[in-house]
Amino acid sequence: MNGWQHRHIIDLASFSSEDYAAVLELAERFRSLPVTGARKLPALQGRLVATLFFEPSTRTRSSFELAAKRLSADVMSFSPSSSSLSKGESVLDTARTYVAMGADVLVVRHRSTAVPEQLARDLDAAGERTVVLNGGDGLHSHPSQGLLDLFTLARHFAPDHPSPEALQGKRIAIVGDILHSRVARSNLWALTACGADVVLCGPPSLLPDDFSAFVESPPPGQSFDPVAQRGTIRVERKLERALPGVDAVMTLRLQKERMGQQLLTSLSRYHRDYGLSHDRLKLCGQLVPVLHPGPVNRGVEMTSALLDDLSICLVEEQVRNGVPTRMALLYLMAAAESAAEPSLVSRSS
Ligand code: ASP
Repeated sequence: MNGWQHRHIIDLASFSSEDYAAVLELAERFRSLPVTGARKLPALQGRLVATLFFEPSTRTRSSFELAAKRLSADVMSFSPSSSSLSKGESVLDTARTYVAMGADVLVVRHRSTAVPEQLARDLDAAGERTVVLNGGDGLHSHPSQGLLDLFTLARHFAPDHPSPEALQGKRIAIVGDILHSRVARSNLWALTACGADVVLCGPPSLLPDDFSAFVESPPPGQSFDPVAQRGTIRVERKLERALPGVDAVMTLRLQKERMGQQLLTSLSRYHRDYGLSHDRLKLCGQLVPVLHPGPVNRGVEMTSALLDDLSICLVEEQVRNGVPTRMALLYLMAAAESAAEPSLVSRSS
């Protein structure tokens, strides 16, 4: 755990190979610990985790809350519709209210890119010790999803030792609405950092050509890339060219709520061109797993039969892995600011 440098977790562009290794190692430990029921880990005892989701969420929010509870934290959650946001209170003032109540961690989701980062900067400038964990901001970043996807793939390729090396040299296809996907962006940083080669596939309206250069330079405000050598990114327009030889396929939801204009002619045409099915997967040349961050539009991104085929589709496995991955992030953040490492020994409560 030594060497963890991140006070806030805003995106994965700043993660080093050691950071990915630390998260995966802890996630694997948490996954195999008996922390259900009355047995919790005391690591975050006395800490307060607040989930501030200004955008809808099913998985991320409940997964963070369960992760925090399994580490014995107190948890508060905020719901925009029943809050003073409707009376005109700003996002920052809302967040500061939770800080005033003693929140140690704010997990923040917002439809506008950079809200979590701005919040983190404001808290630092005010000398607050509260840390911010990005739960998904606009199109920009969804770090915990990128990490749980990485963990899921690492477990698939190397069940006995799910480390970043498990991804080295693997070819992963990401299919669909890349343009509007913060999940795709976080996965691009994570997968290439671990030496995987990524094939992006979608229509030009949802996948601009310049995505092939996505990880070539760090984002504004970051002076260098902590990863010495990354895997490659290739853009393809047809599944027939993207799928042969891949080791896994991730498909993404069509983010209609973020499409300002009509970017697709029809959903049935999209499904015909980019929808996954058992038959389509034969293009891979081998049996490969399918991932999707959820929520899934049944019959659009993939057929219902594929979604329900748990021998191929890892969607439920991703949800399951979300909890230990988020426990790992919360643990690392808590460990970074305490003198002694928080305990990993279970207690009965
Ligand atoms: N749940 C993911 C997100 O919040 C993916 C999606 O909504 O399609 O970005």
